[in-house]
Amino acid sequence: MNAKSLSKSDRIGIIGAGPAGIYTAHLLAKRGFTQVTLLEGSGSIGGKSVTVQRDGVRHELGTCFLHPGYDLVFPLLEELGMENAMRPASPRGGEIHFPGSSTSMQEWMLGGRGLSNILPGARLLASLRRYIELHREVWPDFHPGLPPQPERWEGLDMTFESFLRKHKLENLIPLFWITMFAQGYGDLKTTPTFYGLSWITPALVSAIMQSTLGRPSLLILPQGWAEVWQRLAHLHDMDIILNARISKIERPESGPAQVYWSSDGRRESESFDHVIMATPMQRGVELFEETSVEESEVFRSLKPSQMSTLLFEAARAPQGHCIRYYPGAIEGSSQGHVYGIRNSAQALGHTIDDRTFVAHQYCPTAQSKEDLLDRALTDLGIYGFEGVRAIEQRVFSYAPRFDQRGLEAGLPWRIEALQGQRGTWYVGGSVSFESVNDITHHANKLVARMAAVATDRSESLVLRAQAQRARVVRAG
Ligand SMILES: Cc1cc2nc3c(=O)[nH]c(=O)nc-3n(C[C@H](O)[C@H](O)[C@H](O)COP(=O)(O)OP(=O)(O)OC[C@H]3O[C@@H](n4cnc5c(N)ncnc54)[C@H](O)[C@@H]3O)c2cc1C
Repeated sequence: MNAKSLSKSDRIGIIGAGPAGIYTAHLLAKRGFTQVTLLEGSGSIGGKSVTVQRDGVRHELGTCFLHPGYDLVFPLLEELGMENAMRPASPRGGEIHFPGSSTSMQEWMLGGRGLSNILPGARLLASLRRYIELHREVWPDFHPGLPPQPERWEGLDMTFESFLRKHKLENLIPLFWITMFAQGYGDLKTTPTFYGLSWITPALVSAIMQSTLGRPSLLILPQGWAEVWQRLAHLHDMDIILNARISKIERPESGPAQVYWSSDGRRESESFDHVIMATPMQRGVELFEETSVEESEVFRSLKPSQMSTLLFEAARAPQGHCIRYYPGAIEGSSQGHVYGIRNSAQALGHTIDDRTFVAHQYCPTAQSKEDLLDRALTDLGIYGFEGVRAIEQRVFSYAPRFDQRGLEAGLPWRIEALQGQRGTWYVGGSVSFESVNDITHHANKLVARMAAVATDRSESLVLRAQAQRARVVRAG
């Protein structure tokens, strides 16, 4: 397969207007690509960024937080006039609940009640420092997005929990359990070290350490994440076709790709010189009419987990902080227990007594919406919420990953080798680590690469005409 030539005036179709699709379109516009169209299967943009407004309070049912290491997001928010709106996600800190007792997140980190095996705060901070050093030793050239392929897997060929134990960092396990699990990145017992190190970076650990001094490590956007992508689309007056659920993509060896979808019972299609896949690729690969052996092997090896959120109202709620975690639920993750509950009004600093909450559930494999709802209602009863009324439930296929064998076979980096082949490019949470920090870094690199190989057709025509004129003059 050959890479197709690329020009800044080529027609580019982006499949999926989630954060990765919108951010990529923004970068392409900045780099001078002029004909970019987004095709979004649902009726709105933003993908897993789902902000629901109710009685003046915004609730995040998808993307929620950012930490101080989101270095490409901060300038973006500033550009969109949103930076000053950011605030600590949990003004009084989070709260950890155990059956019959609870403790603040900070106390817990620094050796508070509830966990018998936790060491005093000073030891914890020393271990966090040691972890940062270790991260830099084992992965000196690490960067977010898709980090470089490790030169050797020796020492990384184990679960993240084994890795921490091997390096005598067991006292970080409770904190890192929450740090991974709360974001839907799985438990330490089964997660490969590669993914643990990809999320718990030196930047995140530094933010956690700063939080012990009272600086927030977790930030929230009062206007909501959905607003970020809306504003970005508006800024560039992006060409977006909604309700265009793509069903087939033909990619002939030469000539443009043909993209098909149905709308109001009518079959629609559009041709593009290049296609950027900004949809989760474990499903996205099925859209190609023909796939190469390599595409098939790589994308079909991706295995997603599932995250589910439930917006609910409670007639009576137990007193507590705005963000509560239930570590007991993590052990039973396969049943999709509620592991985290957030009161959005409190998290956003509203003083009103709002008894609306968002509950989070995680499952390593897919479960039905009905089972998840039953489980959530049972758990909320156990946690002391009474008179619960479900308002809205969202279930997401989430964070597709390779297993350890796939990682060692280099599958994530083989995707990078596929970039541009048959006029097809890939961005988003299935080809980089799944967080907004990572997808923005990954897209940034990819678009820089596209811009580097792209010719500016109008410019090159002018240069060619000038060169011809010069030859004529010389010949004359
Ligand atoms: C509950 C939850 C909480 C999260 N919290 C955070 C957080 O706090 N911080 C953070 O950084 N990240 C968080 N994330 C992750 C973040 O939301 C994702 O990393 C991000 O949404 C990935 O963007 P994406 O564009 O790659 O994919 P998606 O958001 O999945 O977007 C893909 C888009 O493609 C569209 N699509 C799919 N198939 C087709 C098709 N056939 N045709 C046309 N369109 C199609 C979809 O409709 C969707 O709009 C969270 C995610 C969830 C689910």
